[in-house]
Amino acid sequence: MTRPARSADPRPGAPRPQTAAGDPATRPRKQEQEPASEEVTEVAPGVLRLQLPIWMPGLGHVNTYALVDDRGVALVDPGLPGPRSWRELRRRLRAAGFRLRDVHHVIVTHSHPDHFGAAGRLRREAGAELVAHRAFTTWSLSPKAATVSEAEAERVEREAIEAAARYGGPSLEEVVELEGITQERQRQSVPWGGSTPWGGSRHPLPPWHRRLLIRALRLLFVPPDPTRRVIHGSPLRLAGREWLAVHTPGHTLDHLCLWDPEHGVLLSGDHVLPTITPHIAGSAQGDSLSAYLATLDLVARLDGVRLGLPAHGHPFTDVPGRVAAIRAHHAERMERLRAASRALGPADVRTISRELFPRWHWGVMAESETFAHLEHLRRAGQAERWREGDRLVYRVEEAP
Ligand SMILES: [Zn+2]
Ligand SMILES: [Zn+2]
Repeated sequence: MTRPARSADPRPGAPRPQTAAGDPATRPRKQEQEPASEEVTEVAPGVLRLQLPIWMPGLGHVNTYALVDDRGVALVDPGLPGPRSWRELRRRLRAAGFRLRDVHHVIVTHSHPDHFGAAGRLRREAGAELVAHRAFTTWSLSPKAATVSEAEAERVEREAIEAAARYGGPSLEEVVELEGITQERQRQSVPWGGSTPWGGSRHPLPPWHRRLLIRALRLLFVPPDPTRRVIHGSPLRLAGREWLAVHTPGHTLDHLCLWDPEHGVLLSGDHVLPTITPHIAGSAQGDSLSAYLATLDLVARLDGVRLGLPAHGHPFTDVPGRVAAIRAHHAERMERLRAASRALGPADVRTISRELFPRWHWGVMAESETFAHLEHLRRAGQAERWREGDRLVYRVEEAP
């Protein structure tokens, strides 16, 4: 496979090649797919970017942000589990002038393995506090599943509402509504198991492959049990100043961004990426697309937001512009969904997803996103749903 070469431009917000249609072998590489750079760069005051390699389809690296203060560093999204990523993380830390024991906090933006992989090990080996959203869940490979007491949840919620009021975030009702979405945790006992809410296997892997992956995880993975669970508006002291947790469900239920109102910096995780449209995880109990679009608007409206620091790709300056582009993508996807349903008649999620996505995207991710769009329309009274055997079947109405 050959890819057109492109020159690296390290300036934050520098123009990047845009998405091109066509076969993946001939498309130009997106910035989120570039291999991890060895360079440590300061991307905002007291914020270093350490890029770690990842081995996942469609992505070349994850940005681990090191937030420096007089006690050492807090790391945001420390990469995949396993020794390879761990070695790279330690090398980057050394290059930045830190030792493992200087890491006093780890913040995980959401429950995807390229973000939480090394978090449990950092907690164990560096004694770091581990911060994640209240709804954060991951595979229960150990019997020590994390829980939070009612009293603690109430205290944090109070704190959050007060903090949200301070920076003009959503009202109490909006906070409660968004938090409500996150109550429907789907704890999986092991990864790659079970069936999807719309019918069909969640991860159609051959049994031997599944056994191999689970065994590897048991050996390599320290479960990242948070020591502090935050909710929307919770304050966090990082890089010598106050940041606020911004709950941004959609990509996952537990997704967090971190907002620095003093410098207008948003650590956007996978909520807003510079050129890739983040995947929306369909949910059986909630409208994840509505939650996603609402919280896209929330981050675009943050007063004085001037720099987005994404988990993949380069820093970008126009957060509202990027939000508008992602919104336009979903509006267009909705139109294509209506057209597909018109052409197909009643159809299951897999069939519809194959009308919407090119062949190289077919699979559970494409089905999950199609499911999110279908549920969004159904809850708006614009689609009908019924069950045929183990599958959900949908018919979408014409645009109102
Ligand atoms: Zn993710
Ligand atoms: Zn990611």
